[in-house]
Amino acid sequence: MNKVSNCWIFGESAAALPDLVSGALELAESVDAVIVGDKTEAAKALQAGCGKVYLIAEQGDTILEDYCATIQALIAREKPRLFILKTTKRTRLIAGRLAAAARTSVITDITNLSTDGKTITGEHMVYGGSAHRLEKCGDGLCLALVGEGIFTGPPAPAVSAGEIIEIAFIEPPRKAKLLERKPIAGEAVNLAVAKKVVGIGRGIQKKEDVALAQALAQALGAEIACTRPIAEGENWLARERYIGVSGAMLKPDYYFAIGISGQIQHMVGVNNAKTIISINSDKNAPIFKLSDYGLVADLYSALPKLMEKL
Ligand SMILES: Cc1cc2nc3c(=O)[nH]c(=O)nc-3n(C[C@H](O)[C@H](O)[C@H](O)COP(=O)(O)OP(=O)(O)OC[C@H]3O[C@@H](n4cnc5c(N)ncnc54)[C@H](O)[C@@H]3O)c2cc1C
Repeated sequence: MNKVSNCWIFGESAAALPDLVSGALELAESVDAVIVGDKTEAAKALQAGCGKVYLIAEQGDTILEDYCATIQALIAREKPRLFILKTTKRTRLIAGRLAAAARTSVITDITNLSTDGKTITGEHMVYGGSAHRLEKCGDGLCLALVGEGIFTGPPAPAVSAGEIIEIAFIEPPRKAKLLERKPIAGEAVNLAVAKKVVGIGRGIQKKEDVALAQALAQALGAEIACTRPIAEGENWLARERYIGVSGAMLKPDYYFAIGISGQIQHMVGVNNAKTIISINSDKNAPIFKLSDYGLVADLYSALPKLMEKL
């Protein structure tokens, strides 16, 4: 397979590195990391398979975005061809700033990233998931934001001859002042790596009934997830648990869709499920066209019977 010469990776935490390295190695001959932290973090990047680690020492209360000036200067000096960042709110800001400084753009929300050795092509969904757009980056720096569950290859071996290069921090022209730190209210759930997922939709009539699906998820060893209205309208489950074009993208072995109609905006998030099993009381619900197994039934009678069998 043709590859570009080199790729840099950046993640908000060291946990993001292994899958970034394994995906980047499919696209580039060498993979290097930019790390804001200390030598322990840098060593983790070498362990994850990076050849070089550009280490920017953490500067007290400096927020991540304020390391942009330093990274910009590094990009101008080293000229990486491809720079992949693991998507978070912060890295979106960082990628935007780096792109503006380098007079290039960012390919975001990538569902597939590929190269023929010359051009880098990022694929992502548009129009609420009803179309795919290809964005091509011909030469110069290509910045790409890749989310959870996109790179799923095996972990790369550690590079024994890897090196850590310490980079001096450059003060940004205007610095944000940190006033307070608050923990994020939300749930730490990574649906992208779940092998079994039970998804609920508006077929569930009231908050207490979510327990029915939760019991099923527990019996199956599955994660619980939902459609957007359940998380954003009803607030019965955390926002991190809704699936679809504006939520999480999944690749489970089994997706159980309970009381879900099967609108495109939801289903693009489970397109890559190996097996979809759905329960819906409406035999004409679109979900049945996309399911491997479908049960036309009232979930309130079907779920207790299913639990009995389980
Ligand atoms: C720009 C945009 C982005 C969006 N992004 C997302 C997204 O990322 N994720 C997402 O999920 N949605 C998204 N939506 C919303 C999406 O279009 C649908 O409205 C939503 O997915 C529908 O959720 P639902 O299936 O739970 O509800 P409904 O469409 O109301 O379906 C409920 C289903 O439950 C069935 N049912 C009712 N009672 C029972 C019962 N007792 N037993 C069994 N079945 C029953 C009904 O037959 C029906 O099929 C987006 C919309 C827009 C416009």
